[in-house]
Amino acid sequence: MTSPLARIGRLIVVVRIQDLAAALRRDDGFVQAFPGEFSFASGDDPSGEPLGPNFQGLNITFPGIGGRSPSGAWNFQRSYYVPVVALVVALTLFGAYLLWRDVRRDLKLAEMRSQFVSSVSHELKTPLTAIRMFAETLRLQRSKDPKVQDEYLDTIVKESERLSRLLNNVLDFSKIEQGKKVYRPEPTSLYEVIQATARTMEYPLSRQGFSLRIQTEDGLPDVCLDRDALEQALLNLLSNAMKYSGNSREIHLKLLIKQGWALIQVTDFGIGIDPREHQRIFEKFYRAASPENERLPGTGLGLSLVAHFVKAQGGRIEVDSAPGRGSTFALYLPLETKR
Ligand code: ADP
Repeated sequence: MTSPLARIGRLIVVVRIQDLAAALRRDDGFVQAFPGEFSFASGDDPSGEPLGPNFQGLNITFPGIGGRSPSGAWNFQRSYYVPVVALVVALTLFGAYLLWRDVRRDLKLAEMRSQFVSSVSHELKTPLTAIRMFAETLRLQRSKDPKVQDEYLDTIVKESERLSRLLNNVLDFSKIEQGKKVYRPEPTSLYEVIQATARTMEYPLSRQGFSLRIQTEDGLPDVCLDRDALEQALLNLLSNAMKYSGNSREIHLKLLIKQGWALIQVTDFGIGIDPREHQRIFEKFYRAASPENERLPGTGLGLSLVAHFVKAQGGRIEVDSAPGRGSTFALYLPLETKR
C-alpha cells in the first residue's frame, strides 16, 4: 500500500517568515551559535547570508553586528586587524633596529674611547721620554760643549711645547664634551697668527727635514675670533700635514681672501685621504682606516677640535684630498666682525 502523499509529484510547504524566526529564537542551539539579533531579507539583499538550497531566495542578516553576516564580520575584522597587526610588527621591528643601531654605535664609541686612552698615553710618553733623557744627560754633564747643551735645552723646551699642545687638545675636548668650551673673540691679525704658528712649528719641521712655504695676501683686515683657538687649530693641521706626509717633505700654508671670506689653507703632498672618509675624519676619535694610518700614532681628536672651532666662529672647514695625492684643508672664516 502506498501513502497518498507518495503519489503527489510536487509538494509546496508554505512557512510564514515570522513563525520561522520565532522558532529559531526558541532553538537553544541556534541562539548559542548566533547570540545577536537577526532578521530575514530577500535573496538579492547583499548584506545577508543565503540560508541554503532549501530556502532559496531567502537571506539572513545580523543587524546586531553592524548589519554584517558572520562571514562578512570576519572579513571586516580581517581587513581591519591584518593591517593593525602588520603595523605593530613593523613598529616592533623598527624599534628593535633602532636599539640594535644604538647598541652598535655605543660599542663602537666605547672601543674608540679605549683606543683614544691608549693613543693619548702613547703620545704623552714620547715627549716625556725625550725630556727626561735630555735632562738626565745634562745633569750628568756628559757633554761639556755649550752648543750641544743648548741643543739639548732646545729639545726639552720644544718637547714640552708638544706636550702642552696635546694636553690642550685633550682639555679642549673635555670642555666641549661638557658644553663648557668658551671662545673669546677679539680683533686678530690672521697674518700674525700664521707667523706665530709657523715659529712654533719651526723646530719640529726642521728636525724632520720639512720645508714650510708660507704665502699671505696683503691688506687683510683684522678678524674677530679666538686667537689661541685659531693657533691651536693651525698647529693641529700642520702637525697632521707632517704626520701624514709620507715621503714628501713639503708643506704649504696660505692666507687669502676668497668671496668675502678669509681663507687659510694647509696643503701637504702625502698619503691623502679616501673621499669616502672625508666626512667622518671630523668626528671625535675617528681615524681613517688605512694601513698607513695604523702605523702612525694619533688620538682622532685634532680635526674634530678644528671643526668645532671653525663652526663656533661662523666659518667652515673643507677638505680636498685623494689617496697618494696629498691633502688640502681649507678654513673659511667670516671677515665681518662677530660678537
Ligand atoms: P689623528 O691625526 O690624531 O688620528 P685627527 O682628528 O687629527 O686625528 O685626524 C683624523 C684622521 O684624519 C686621521 O686619523 C687621518 O686618517 C686623517 N687625516 C687628517 N689629516 C690628514 C692629512 N693631512 N693627510 C692624510 N690624512 C689625514
